[in-house]
Amino acid sequence: MAKRILITGGAGFIGSHLAENLLNAGNQIIVLDNFHTGRKENLTHLLSHPNFELIRHDITDSIKLEVDQIYNMACPASPVHYQSNPIKTIKTNVLGTMNMLGLAKRVKARILQASTSEVYGNPLEHPQNESYWGNVNTIGIRSCYDEGKRVAETLCFDYHRQHGVDIRVIRIFNTYGPRMIPDDGRVVSNFIVQALRGEDITIYGDGSQTRSFCYVDDLVKGIINMMNVENFVGPVNLGNDGEFTVKELAELIIKETGSKSKIIYLPLPQDDPARRKPNLSLAKEKLNYSTTVPLLEGVKKTIEYFSKRV
Ligand code: NAD
Ligand code: UDP
Repeated sequence: MAKRILITGGAGFIGSHLAENLLNAGNQIIVLDNFHTGRKENLTHLLSHPNFELIRHDITDSIKLEVDQIYNMACPASPVHYQSNPIKTIKTNVLGTMNMLGLAKRVKARILQASTSEVYGNPLEHPQNESYWGNVNTIGIRSCYDEGKRVAETLCFDYHRQHGVDIRVIRIFNTYGPRMIPDDGRVVSNFIVQALRGEDITIYGDGSQTRSFCYVDDLVKGIINMMNVENFVGPVNLGNDGEFTVKELAELIIKETGSKSKIIYLPLPQDDPARRKPNLSLAKEKLNYSTTVPLLEGVKKTIEYFSKRV
C-alpha cells in the first residue's frame, strides 16, 4: 500500500537514490534537506512528480508533518565534510535525531535511523558483528560523527523502550556510486575524480588499510527491506563484505579509467580505522539480504557517471 514517507537528507547521495526508488514504487515522498552536502540536482528528475515534495529544512529544528515512515539519513558522511563543522555534526546526530524521534512518536510513524560502521571505531574484532561494542575515541576528530551516531542509536532504543516508538537501526558500511559530489572527499569519488582529471591519486598512509565497498543500489534494497520487515528492529549491518586495501582500489581505478595519474602517499588522518568488513549474516537471515554488484562493476558505473561531470 502507498505510504507517506519522509526522507531527511534526501538530496544527498544515498537519500536521493532512496527517494527515487520509493517514489517509483508509488509512495508519497517528502524530502527535508539543508543542502550542506546534498544538491537539488540529485532530485531534479523527481521535482515535477505530483507525489514528490522537497523542503529546505535543517533537522536540528523541529517540524510538524503527517507521515507513515521516516528515513533519517541527514548527516554529512564524508570525514572532510563532517569535520568541517564538528559541532553542527553532533547537533545533527543528537538534536536532529531527537526531533525525528519526537515526530515519529507524535504521528506514530516507523523511523529508520542511518547509523554507520563508524560506531565500531578502529575495530578490534574482524569482521564486525552487530554484537561488537566498538573501539571509539571520544575526543578525536572523528568523534563528532562516530559518537554522534552512537548517541543517535541510543536515542532510538530509548524512545523505543520508553515510548514504544517503532524503530529500525541500520549500520551502513562504505557505500559509493553515482550522485556523490565530486568534492565529497571519500575515497572512491576522490580517486575516480583524480584519475579522470589526470591528477595525482592521494593515498593516505601506505594504502594497506582496508574497506568493504558497497554499490548504492544494493544498499538501497537492504534499507527498504529493513524498514518494512516486522519484529526486527536491528541494529543490522548493511554493505558488501568484499574487502580491499585502499591501494588495490587506487590501482583498479587507474586501470579502469586508463588514467596516467600517479599515486602519491600523504599522511594517514588521525584515528583512521585500519580494517573494516561487515559480517552480513544477520542481514542475510532477517532481510534475505545479498549484494549483486561486485566492486569492478560498481566502479565502472561510477566512472561513467563522473566522466560526464568532471
Ligand atoms: P551525503 O553527505 O551525500 O548526504 C547527507 C545529506 O544530509 C545531504 O543531502 C545533506 O545536505 C543533508 N544534511 C546534513 N545535515 C543536515 C541537517 N542538519 N538537516 C537536514 N539535512 C542535512 O551522505 P550519504 O553518503 O548519502 O549518507 C547518508 C546517511 O547515511 C548519513 O546519515 C550517513 O551518516 C549514513 N552513512 C553513509 C555511509 C556511506 O558510505 N555513504 C556509510 C555509513 C553511514
Ligand atoms: N583515503 C585515501 N585517499 C583519499 C580519501 C580517503 O587514501 O583521497 C582513505 C582514508 O584514509 C581511509 C579510506 O580511504 O583509510 C576510506 O576513506 P573514506 O573517507 O572514504 O571513508 P571512511 O574513512 O569513513 O571509511
